[in-house]
Amino acid sequence: MNVYDSVRMADVLAPHGYVPTDSPVDADMVILNTCHIREKAAEKVYSEIGRMRLLKQGREAAGERMIIAVGGCVGQAEGAEIIARADCVDMVFGPQTYHRLPELVAQVLQKSGTRVVDTEFPEEDKFDHLPEESASQGPAAFLSVQEGCDKFCTFCVVPYTRGAEQSRPVAAVTDEARRLAAGGCREITLLGQNVNAYHGTAPDGREWGLGRLIRHLAESVPAVQRIRYTTSHPRDMADELIEAHRDVPQLMPYLHLPVQSGSDRILAAMNRQHTAEDYFRIIEGLRAARSDIALSSDFIVGFPGETDRDFADTLRLIREVTFAQAYSFKYSARPGTPAAGIGEQVPDPVKEERLAMVQQLLQAQQEAFNHNAAGAVMPVLFDRKGRRPGQIQGRSPYMQSVFAEAPDRLIGSVATCRIAAVHNRSLRGDIVAAAAPSKRVSA
Ligand code: SAH
Ligand code: SF4
Repeated sequence: MNVYDSVRMADVLAPHGYVPTDSPVDADMVILNTCHIREKAAEKVYSEIGRMRLLKQGREAAGERMIIAVGGCVGQAEGAEIIARADCVDMVFGPQTYHRLPELVAQVLQKSGTRVVDTEFPEEDKFDHLPEESASQGPAAFLSVQEGCDKFCTFCVVPYTRGAEQSRPVAAVTDEARRLAAGGCREITLLGQNVNAYHGTAPDGREWGLGRLIRHLAESVPAVQRIRYTTSHPRDMADELIEAHRDVPQLMPYLHLPVQSGSDRILAAMNRQHTAEDYFRIIEGLRAARSDIALSSDFIVGFPGETDRDFADTLRLIREVTFAQAYSFKYSARPGTPAAGIGEQVPDPVKEERLAMVQQLLQAQQEAFNHNAAGAVMPVLFDRKGRRPGQIQGRSPYMQSVFAEAPDRLIGSVATCRIAAVHNRSLRGDIVAAAAPSKRVSA
């Protein structure tokens, strides 16, 4: 989502003459788009500000100006603190106010020494204030359909930093999808903190869920050959969405469905509002709908009060489900969240040990999944040149990185590949059938 937001920040600044640069060294403005989810991510912001301060000082010594802005969720959560702690920062804003960037920049430029903070949750919908024109994201693009979260898992800052759950109207999403397709996009990942809680107003005046939205996009934007969505919550895996996996061929057979823990006790303490058994039932339903579906997840180890037995339940869940890929984290106490105040925090060495165990198991499952691909024939969306000359690179339906010896003109299209070799981080494919070049597909 931050990647998408950064693209949109560039969009809103483009009419004001700002273009993205590859390096901060020659930038007139540096925007740090930040993440507050774990302490490590939030702390990185201050070291990054330190680096930018040096660049700014260098520029000022040469009589030039550089604006330093902090956006995103650290900006939202720590606005005033950042201004107090880092005197080189000119501007702080949150994820819901980046459409106001041109005004904020104007204020800072107007009078030297002006520093602004905008961390409101505004009345207006930022999407109504972003330009239609968007920088190309290439053949695989993100599209934000839902933001915010009302679930209040006890470990999580998102409901505080991103605000209440909100869905964009179906027509706005469809228009953006059409524009992306016209610009050459062939795969769209629908984004939301809780994307499957989507409930956008539809042209028929009703509210549509994510399953209905996906069907609609598949029908009305045919140039988009692949649809994905992330991140989902098990609570919102509605039947309609599971059925979309059965009925919509564009919907990729790969789902990131965070479960966090396999222990019912911990799931309850996390306020996830489902049990391990509920999760198994959902997976069963998904596999019945689409037998080739593969799963990815998120896990937190060392949540306050997690015992060896709770942790064993997590390992058991992982063994039972088997994941193609997963992210796992040590629990990080976040200021202002209920779990941070629980007395029985798990000592760090225990968290470390559990993290290593969980990662070893998940890694083995991921390797087995990738090895299973050897010899398989699968569609690959090529979206870039490969690392070596003569190679191009893309993604399998399961987000595996696939490279092939093939001409550059296949970049931007889906080609059928036979997987010839499985490497550590990627698969090598031989092109079996090249799809029509993208320019012949009409948006
Ligand atoms: N909305 C998604 C998750 C968004 S946050 C969901 O409900 O699943 C992304 C991931 O960061 C979470 O799935 C969780 O595994 C991790 N995470 C969030 N807060 C955390 C914390 N305080 N400590 C460690 N990991 C955390
Ligand atoms: Fe955070 Fe996801 Fe829980 Fe919302 S549902 S509070 S985003 S972990």
